Amino acid sequence: MTKKTRYKYIYGPVSSWRLGTSLGIDPISRDKKICTFDCVYCQVGQTAVLSDKREVFVPTKKIIEEIQSLPPLKIDYITFSGRGEPTLAKNLGEIIRRIRDARRGKIAVITNASLVDRKDVQEDLAFADLVMLKLDACSEEAFLKINRPVPSVKFDKSLQGMKKFRSGYKGKLALQIMFVEENKDCAPEIAGLAKDIKADEVQINTPLRPCSTRPLAKEELDAIKGYFQGMKVVHVYEGKKQAIKPISKTATSKRRGICEKLRSDD
Ligand code: SF4
Repeated sequence: MTKKTRYKYIYGPVSSWRLGTSLGIDPISRDKKICTFDCVYCQVGQTAVLSDKREVFVPTKKIIEEIQSLPPLKIDYITFSGRGEPTLAKNLGEIIRRIRDARRGKIAVITNASLVDRKDVQEDLAFADLVMLKLDACSEEAFLKINRPVPSVKFDKSLQGMKKFRSGYKGKLALQIMFVEENKDCAPEIAGLAKDIKADEVQINTPLRPCSTRPLAKEELDAIKGYFQGMKVVHVYEGKKQAIKPISKTATSKRRGICEKLRSDD
């Protein structure tokens, strides 16, 4: 591999308030963002291709070659995320299994949970040590307003999928909730749903990287946190971050915006 194209599918490591030092894998890795959602607050831009079709976007072998060529790195998690929804990658489970053969360490998947009602997606996610499911809405109406999903994805189906996945999943399950102006009034209802899902942790977030939506203030997240009493909850303003040099600035900024902003995850 030439120096210029050395890392096309791997990015970071970045300092994540939720994961410590996180090395990213983008199993879609297309210039145009492909996602099942077009969230109002998305920090990697508008969705170019709104799709629910699972495909092999990057051959597993190519990702494993990059993993094997990594310099020695101290990382807490290898994390599937990037520009788009990682469960759209049909080979997600295979990539996770092959990474386990190639190196030690914990593996996380950050997913918007749109496809978690599917058996094949649940089987793939089961290979990860940590799965972080998005829950930004409390009703179909709010879901359409904030996440703007592909028409086949319905809020109730996704919610049932989360509960079903929880019942069989042996790893750590977290809920990631992005609060903005559009859904902050849903917080009490979302907290109720989070209790029903029985996740191990709830991560309350607001978009601190540049996007078209205003982030909520720390005081607002503190108040929202109050609705989640009895659960293990962290919020973005409480997270600790440190400066970390990515192995490839180009690969990283493509997934996460300009390099000055590489200090936190979404
Ligand atoms: S699910 Fe993630 S990548 Fe997709 S539109 Fe929402 S924030 Fe962006």
